[in-house]
Amino acid sequence: MPPVETAMSNSPLVTYSRLSPNRTSPRNHAIDTITIHCMAGNASVESCGALFARASTEASSNYGIGSDGRVALYVDEGDRSWASSNGANDHRAVTIEVANCGGEPDWPVSDQAYAALIDLCVDICRRNGIQKLLWQGDKSLVGQVDKQNMTAHRWFAAKACPGEYLYSRFGDIAARVNERLEEEHVTQEQFNEMMEVYLTQQRSKESSSWSQEAWEKAETAGVFDGTAPQAPLSREQASLVLDRLGLLPEGGV
Ligand SMILES: [Zn+2]
Repeated sequence: MPPVETAMSNSPLVTYSRLSPNRTSPRNHAIDTITIHCMAGNASVESCGALFARASTEASSNYGIGSDGRVALYVDEGDRSWASSNGANDHRAVTIEVANCGGEPDWPVSDQAYAALIDLCVDICRRNGIQKLLWQGDKSLVGQVDKQNMTAHRWFAAKACPGEYLYSRFGDIAARVNERLEEEHVTQEQFNEMMEVYLTQQRSKESSSWSQEAWEKAETAGVFDGTAPQAPLSREQASLVLDRLGLLPEGGV
């Protein structure tokens, strides 16, 4: 089991906080999963917070999103929320309750809430080192976060949560989040490609007119080895040049 980070942070997107007593502190697993829920009602972040503030509710989530797109904090990310009817899931997941702007059977959410949900997921992934959101809609993959790191409440209890509107969009949510994560993250492969383009450009440049004569002399004298006029000079090549010009002392300087 990976160690739990000691200094977990909360999202800077939060504009309203009301911490719930319904939590297990601290969580016993590093965050590697996101579980999106629906409120099954059009609660504001304040009314959802008031509900979770009552111990008798025996429920909570880490975050809530209202139909106005505001983001609330109810349980610190460092703590386990009581959201998904599954302790193991909630110990490793950040849970998010999203308000519904319509009712059953679809339980739609507003465009503002949906946009805020994407923003929040991007932020959660970035701060917790989740490289990519993975969704296959396959309950049998629960806990195999290298294959699927989004889960659904309906897998753990006889509930419609997160509602058809959100559930059918989990793939879209993952795609949008991943697009944003990739924009911010240059992979080694992309870096190598950019370096190759740069070096090719340097190699294809002609010598400048002011240095043309000197370059031709150097080329004829054979002081360089396989180097285009504008390519950067490595220490290896510099040594070769100095040696060919007889400028390297045998016994050190
Ligand atoms: Zn739920």
